[in-house]
Amino acid sequence: MIVVVGAGPAGIAAALAVQECGKAVTVVDENPSAGGQIWRGDPTHRWVARFRAFNIPLISGVRVVWGYPAARTLVLEDAVGARRLAYDKLVVAVGSPEIFLPFPGWTLPGVFGAGGLQALVKSGLPVRGKNVVVAGTGPLLLAVAASLRKKGANIRLIAEQTPAALLWPFAKQLSGRASKLLQGIGLAWDLAGIPYAPASWVTAAQGDGRLQRIVLNRRGTLVTEDCDYLAVGFGLRPATELAAIMAGPDTIVAGTGDADLSLLEGRIAGYTAAGDLEKARGLEPERDQARTFAASIDRTFAVRDELRQLADSGTIICRCEDVPLGRLEGKTCFRDAKLHTRCGMGACQGRVCGPALEFLFGWHGASPRPPIFPARVGSLLSEG
Ligand SMILES: Cc1cc2nc3c(=O)[nH]c(=O)nc-3n(C[C@H](O)[C@H](O)[C@H](O)COP(=O)(O)OP(=O)(O)OC[C@H]3O[C@@H](n4cnc5c(N)ncnc54)[C@H](O)[C@@H]3O)c2cc1C
Repeated sequence: MIVVVGAGPAGIAAALAVQECGKAVTVVDENPSAGGQIWRGDPTHRWVARFRAFNIPLISGVRVVWGYPAARTLVLEDAVGARRLAYDKLVVAVGSPEIFLPFPGWTLPGVFGAGGLQALVKSGLPVRGKNVVVAGTGPLLLAVAASLRKKGANIRLIAEQTPAALLWPFAKQLSGRASKLLQGIGLAWDLAGIPYAPASWVTAAQGDGRLQRIVLNRRGTLVTEDCDYLAVGFGLRPATELAAIMAGPDTIVAGTGDADLSLLEGRIAGYTAAGDLEKARGLEPERDQARTFAASIDRTFAVRDELRQLADSGTIICRCEDVPLGRLEGKTCFRDAKLHTRCGMGACQGRVCGPALEFLFGWHGASPRPPIFPARVGSLLSEG
């Protein structure tokens, strides 16, 4: 049996490709329903509807916490117990968490990762009438602002750290890509009237016990803006932890970009897992074009150096273990910081502070070790 971990665009596309080849497939996802980051609140989306229409088995509400590649077995954990799942081929399509970079006040209640706030709102957090600032970098800020506005949020501002001089050439190249152009036009319509400030970034979040205002650098001038929520994101990074511990000839990884690229990578992974290499190869030119576009996003929205100077010695860097920047002074690498401060050793295992440390100091995280998520001892000992 072919097992797909992740029921986002990449996992859905992979499972449908396997099904098309007539092979047995099962999908596992920690969320209660299919759709992933982008479609989880939208069971009517055509890809989610197709996935459901084909009755592809979905084990939902269950997280993969460990695995044994040599035995081709995954360890799954849910709220009450654990079990093992055997596979012949494994497709890892677990998505790309967003990058959240530190600044004074980023741990105040009311400050969220852009994707985190979007996910909470999709799960029912009410934002109607709330004043929200969306900040950071990249096209995802626009998607987040549009979805929050649809739920009734009052979007005060979108602060984009990239300067306008880089945004124009990027916008112009959309004209050569019909689907992206249409998405852009749709977003421009959805966001009409909301101020969009290039070359602007949050320097501090302030408030008495929770967020009340932010300080923004707007093209060199510091201004304050009152708000209830700040949604801030600096792009996505592929979640490589599960792929790293399950690496081997029977494991294929998919989903490293926007939804279009993830769908293509998912289909290629599904056909490859099912053994139809001709179909998989047929999609590679389209996948390569999508990757070229993804690379141009990365170049345009590269985070500027000034943001390295925002955190002060009291700014918490490791949110799980409460390690401020001051305690990292004199440390030479991520491992050194871990050993002396417990930075990166908490519940998220460096998923949040790892990219922040890479950005601040150029440190790369240590290789992931199983379990890839905190797990009950009983789950790790479970048989059968
Ligand atoms: C805030 C935000 C807004 C976005 N807006 C857009 C947009 O407008 N247009 C666009 O093209 N793209 C957008 N994207 C990007 C888009 O979400 C991703 O490109 C797309 O979701 C990637 O699909 P995926 O299948 O690779 O990952 P995901 O959609 O993230 O799906 C991965 C799935 O794997 C599951 N999973 C992860 N780990 C485990 C585990 N250990 N065990 C079990 N299940 C697991 C997760 O629950 C999730 O359902 C946005 C992203 C963010 C963060």
